[in-house]
Amino acid sequence: MDKTSIRVQQGDITKAAVEAVVNAANSSLLGGGGVDGAIHRAGGPAILEECKQIRARQGGCPTGEAVITTGGKLPAAYVIHTVGPVWQGGSKGEPELLASCYRNSLRLAAERGLTSIAFPNISTGVYGYPKDKAAKIAVEAVKRYLQAHETSIAQVVFVCFDDENYRLCRSLLAIDA
Ligand code: ADP
Repeated sequence: MDKTSIRVQQGDITKAAVEAVVNAANSSLLGGGGVDGAIHRAGGPAILEECKQIRARQGGCPTGEAVITTGGKLPAAYVIHTVGPVWQGGSKGEPELLASCYRNSLRLAAERGLTSIAFPNISTGVYGYPKDKAAKIAVEAVKRYLQAHETSIAQVVFVCFDDENYRLCRSLLAIDA
């Protein structure tokens, strides 16, 4: 944990200079809107090709889990596709599923020996997760994972697209900075 820096940036995750960017995908792995659309557009067809191969092998990606592909033409070498929960009021396991998106993404990055990873604010777009609740879970899940595991990961970046997520993530990380 002490060796890993957690940072917050505002902007477009497709431009992030990290080894892996995380995609808020859907379970079909066939692309969608929001950050998913942006990643496939910027990264080119090689990403979708690999997603299709994974889909043929394992039939998509369940909520809370993650898979890894090439980053195609992105600055990042890899994309980690994780499927966040759709907000249904909070009593359908959403908090645990959202935390597991962050944990499983970090685990895949660590298994590859990667040193840097960038996350978007998973589930806070079309999937409707309240941003304040999601930000707390995101920050806590990342901190806990890093405390519990010795990993190659030296840098975690939250890339926030919108002002509200940026403000929330910044203040959560400033609390014990
Ligand atoms: P979900 O279906 O998981 O809600 P969305 O893509 O709809 O996924 O939204 C997730 C978050 O990604 C939202 O906070 C949205 O503002 C953000 N987002 C959209 N485009 C980008 C981008 N290019 N880079 C980073 N974050 C983005």
